[in-house]
Amino acid sequence: MEFEAPITEIIPQTHDVKSFRFERPEDFEYKAGQYFFVSIPVAGDIQRKPLTISSSPTEKGFLEFTKKLTGHEFSNALDAMEVGDVLTINGPYGRFTFEGEFDKIALISGGIGITPMISICRYCSDKKTGTDLIILSSNKAAEDIAFREELEEMDNEHSNLKVVHTLTRADDDWPGCKGRICDTIIMDYIPDFMDRVIYVCGPPAMMKATEELLLNMGVPKEQIKKEALVGF
Ligand SMILES: Cc1cc2nc3c(=O)[nH]c(=O)nc-3n(C[C@H](O)[C@H](O)[C@H](O)COP(=O)(O)OP(=O)(O)OC[C@H]3O[C@@H](n4cnc5c(N)ncnc54)[C@H](O)[C@@H]3O)c2cc1C
Repeated sequence: MEFEAPITEIIPQTHDVKSFRFERPEDFEYKAGQYFFVSIPVAGDIQRKPLTISSSPTEKGFLEFTKKLTGHEFSNALDAMEVGDVLTINGPYGRFTFEGEFDKIALISGGIGITPMISICRYCSDKKTGTDLIILSSNKAAEDIAFREELEEMDNEHSNLKVVHTLTRADDDWPGCKGRICDTIIMDYIPDFMDRVIYVCGPPAMMKATEELLLNMGVPKEQIKKEALVGF
């Protein structure tokens, strides 16, 4: 469906990531992990981008997407928008979804690839699906981690939801996991990876490397679900 939506809330997530919220039409149904197209005026024209719905279908009052502000045209126009400005939304689309159909899953994200994962985590947490879920999220530095506090709260609240962050450019005082996602990190933090359906989302290069890694580790192709955030 297509509809116009005034922005109701803008939430800074990190130094270059913001979430935008607006009212959810009553008849707008979607699955955790899906995306929609967001159209906005850019330099006298209308531009549209696919953006993941970072809210959860369980959140009835609003829809949310979360954009990495790249400093390019579309990002700058979005960054300049204020509460009350109107977006055009078209969707939902996509098959990178989770509705509780698997007992054990692993979510592996790179950078802004966290957006479908936070929707899935929010969904599992709200619905109390009981899914055994491990999220392994890779970022450059601690200040780049979006939704960090919320994920930590979910980790504390649900014994079956575990959050692991790895940083590729960690400061010396970072106590957690360091380095790009590799076989050692997967074996250390997702030791039962062979038993899990693995969702991978991020920039194309990270996706390619992670899929190759998982296949080399023996994970069957059909056990890996992918969403590349093309455009970076
Ligand atoms: C299914 C799907 C889901 C997605 N979900 C998300 C999401 O949840 N969050 C998110 O942030 N992104 C998401 N993306 C990516 C998103 O759609 C954009 O492609 C991406 O964020 C880049 O947006 P931008 O603001 O840089 O766009 P643009 O301004 O159009 O820039 C796009 C690219 O064009 C080039 N470019 C643009 N202007 C210039 C210039 N003046 N000079 C040189 N190069 C230039 C740059 O390489 C730039 O990165 C998703 C993509 C897909 C396919």
